[in-house]
Amino acid sequence: MTNAVETSLALAVQAIEASDEEIALACHITPDGDALGSMLALHLALSSQGRKSIASFSEPFVVADHYRGLSGLDALTPPSEYPANPGLMITFDVGSIDRLGGLMPSAESAGDLIVLDHHVSNTRFGTINVIDPNAAATGVVVRRLLSMLGIPLTRDVAINLYAALICDTGRFQYESTTPDVFELASELAAFDLPIPELSRSLFEEHRFAYLGLMGEAISKMVLEPESSFVWLSLTQDMLSRHDCTLDEAEGLIDIVRRAREAEVACILKEEVDGSIKVSLRSVGTADVCRIAQANGGGGHRFAAGFTSHLDVDATLGVIRAAL
Ligand code: 5GP
Ligand code: MN
Repeated sequence: MTNAVETSLALAVQAIEASDEEIALACHITPDGDALGSMLALHLALSSQGRKSIASFSEPFVVADHYRGLSGLDALTPPSEYPANPGLMITFDVGSIDRLGGLMPSAESAGDLIVLDHHVSNTRFGTINVIDPNAAATGVVVRRLLSMLGIPLTRDVAINLYAALICDTGRFQYESTTPDVFELASELAAFDLPIPELSRSLFEEHRFAYLGLMGEAISKMVLEPESSFVWLSLTQDMLSRHDCTLDEAEGLIDIVRRAREAEVACILKEEVDGSIKVSLRSVGTADVCRIAQANGGGGHRFAAGFTSHLDVDATLGVIRAAL
């Protein structure tokens, strides 16, 4: 942990301890395991101390089914009931303020805004920015915050931190998997965690219909060996023919990036409104965060994304040019 991270964490602790009202927590739109896990961990930890907080994320207010093993999902509040002017607001895994979607105005009006994150591309939109690009997950930052607040872990908090950790390290496989990560995993695992159940629901289980979609999608992948690039376009038509939703396809990029001939993998997901959500992965030296940032998105060096309002061909053109 660098001095800057430590200093900002101390400021965050001060702000949380000084607050005597309900603290407003928010994670990014279409939340993943780290966003939900890190937010719910602090939400439940505060509640264990008798502190009031409210936790939410933007519409579409739907938690993908594979996150059902997390703890405290029933303690989430719909964004329509979120405070418009929170005295203290905390964001989780949110790399830029637009990623708050419909909760963005609350962040703009918040008295104090603590940004807890680990994205190298974070735009530091808070009044207190705790950004640690060396942290494997935002959950790691939350663990440190809890230590400094003197709030002990509970099993439910541990479940959420563990989910955050395994989602963002690809189950201890990415380069973010440091000795610290295993130390934290060991501390969490001591809470008798449902490890096999979490692994299966998070990574190894799909509806049969989705497996059919995967089959079609994989058969339509395109390899461009000359640019070491592999891509897949997932359309609303494909989704509806297989009776699937976009959130089920969150892990599909992990299949595409298996192509040995390609250093960069990409999925272009057509959203209901026709825009294209682009997911990029690098398994080599290419920095996909730079490509995402150049297109209004962000992320990490090896995993990044952005939203395109061009069609698939034009979007691919932009990415190829950047490569
Ligand atoms: P994914 O491809 O799984 O959606 O996202 C990969 C990484 O890039 C995640 O860390 C995610 O937070 C980040 N990311 C994806 N889309 C965007 C975006 O539109 N803006 C920003 N700032 N980050 C994004
Ligand atoms: Mn994360």
